Amino acid sequence: MTAPVHPDTVAVHSGRADLTELGVHALPIDLSTTNPLPDIERGGDSYEAMATGGRPPADGSMVYARLWNPTVARFEEALAEMEHAEASVAFASGMAAMTAVILAHTGATGKKHVVAVRPLYGGTDHLLGSALLDTETTYCHPSEVGVSIRPDTALVIVETPANPTLQLVDIAAVVATAGDVPVIVDNTFATPILQNPIDHGAAMSLHSATKYLGGHGDVIAGVVACSETTAEALRRVRAVTGGLLHPLGAYLLHRGLTTLPVRMREQQANAQRLVQWLIDQPQVDEVFYPGLDGDPDGILERQLGGPGAMIAIRLHGGYEAASAVASSVRLFTHAVSLGGVDSLIQHPAALTHRPVPADARPDADVLRLSIGLENVADLIADLTQAFAFRGTAALAQ
Ligand SMILES: *Cc1c(COP(=O)(O)O)cnc(C)c1O
Repeated sequence: MTAPVHPDTVAVHSGRADLTELGVHALPIDLSTTNPLPDIERGGDSYEAMATGGRPPADGSMVYARLWNPTVARFEEALAEMEHAEASVAFASGMAAMTAVILAHTGATGKKHVVAVRPLYGGTDHLLGSALLDTETTYCHPSEVGVSIRPDTALVIVETPANPTLQLVDIAAVVATAGDVPVIVDNTFATPILQNPIDHGAAMSLHSATKYLGGHGDVIAGVVACSETTAEALRRVRAVTGGLLHPLGAYLLHRGLTTLPVRMREQQANAQRLVQWLIDQPQVDEVFYPGLDGDPDGILERQLGGPGAMIAIRLHGGYEAASAVASSVRLFTHAVSLGGVDSLIQHPAALTHRPVPADARPDADVLRLSIGLENVADLIADLTQAFAFRGTAALAQ
């Protein structure tokens, strides 16, 4: 079979190579927790292979679902292909994925230093800051990654576009200054449709699959695309610590991938129209969206297929105005999370970035919007009424 080339085609067909042989058309869901063993010796060999991060041997067994599950493995194969990676490893959540990445690169390696570029997702910031995993973190500007690296640096963590202010980081530049230290990019906001960090030299691309990959707000999951060698290390951590993705979640994510390109394009088009409207609103002091400042470093052009569907706004009238708008929306849901087919609005400083130290926390007058698939005129109408609620008072200040 000739490999499909366009990402739209990959999204629909990837991870399905064995379906014809199985005689099925839709993705099968295998809920087995245990698997028959051909004999004691091959059962033992299979266990050994997977407990050290490998795949089930052809003549062996999958043994136990903490080691391997075919429904999860199909999703992993599909995501790897979409991310231009050799492999991917799925986890119970984005944070389980980040935890496994940190454990696999620190712990037994004897290295415990992490270089992280802020802003990061609040949970990642919290995980690093809590020292729960016995790490030590240096936070720095992208241009300071090189000088922040020490002999015991295990990992460089970058998020781009960043949460919540949509700042862009030049992945290739960070990779160049990181030298031998592997760089992980949190690619949750861009998805593999708009950005493939591995093409720019990153060792790993991480997703909170809870967001765009699932796309319907009904699965918590995480996934890391990487080399097969790194995948082995991550599968080993997963097998030992048990942060597994359930096969039902893997099925929903795999099905969700088929519409990911279309959803991203439509949600992005909605966001672009909404941004054009937002920049003209007197209640809005500042709009954060990739490319609005004209792409001075050329990162958008070089690295991203488009600016995406996340927007942040700074409201005239401070926290009071932000609070009033978040409470007055009717079509948008005031809720955390992002990337689904319906639009959400939330206050990063109070919620997603609450665990972040005050000096690195987003401002209190900033709201984050995740734009969905609704008709954009209806979204504008909803924000118009939410702004009006506060607009007159805010303008009078
Ligand atoms: C949500 C999110 C995470 C954490 O993922 P969970 O699936 O909630 O554990 C990590 N990074 C980013 C950018 C996120 O938005």
